[in-house]
Amino acid sequence: MKKGKIMAIGAHFDDVEINCGGTLAIAQSSGYDVIVIVIGDGVYIDRNKKISRNSSIAKKECLKAFKYLNLNKKNLITLNYKETKIPFDVKIIKKIEQTITFFKPDLILTHSPHDSHQDHYNTSRNVLAASRYNNNVLAWESIFPSKLIKNEISQPNIYIDISNCQEQKINAIKCYQSQIKKFNSYKMAWLDAIISRSRYRGVEIGCKHAEAFYAIKYKITL
Ligand SMILES: [Zn+2]
Repeated sequence: MKKGKIMAIGAHFDDVEINCGGTLAIAQSSGYDVIVIVIGDGVYIDRNKKISRNSSIAKKECLKAFKYLNLNKKNLITLNYKETKIPFDVKIIKKIEQTITFFKPDLILTHSPHDSHQDHYNTSRNVLAASRYNNNVLAWESIFPSKLIKNEISQPNIYIDISNCQEQKINAIKCYQSQIKKFNSYKMAWLDAIISRSRYRGVEIGCKHAEAFYAIKYKITL
């Protein structure tokens, strides 16, 4: 019997794995239905203005990563909007609304509306508009080099113990070789930042690793 339904919406192909990959892996293996929407097309243009990753590589990396999270292509919806130019737009809102109507999620996870990256910020706004009738909506933390630009929500208030799935999550993120190569070339310890963040959030709730969120709206049934 299904326990519930979780919908995660990310701007880019690795956002969901980085920010709620552990949560989705645990949810899927314990009987929840999971659907992931990726708004961007996965095309990455580097600092020399060259295409360093095309859409099909991004999707391949994503489906490889999904295997580690017990997910597959049936769990994925892509909207193919141009990366760095994702708008706050009624067409995206309607597409998310249609998925909400069809899938009926009990919990929606997405970016913070205070994320400094324009794609993350606009994705969050699209999701918050589309999910206005949903009772449980959580925003995940930003990760370096993106950051939160409002202090009051930089401390999350919902934590999920992902200790049992941390390894799966990191293996999933490692499938994004294009991202690892990119951040290595910038000399950024991107993967270390992801691991350190989950360890730090784990310490805060007395476990090894955790993912943390900020409740936009969360209904408690007693
Ligand atoms: Zn992103």
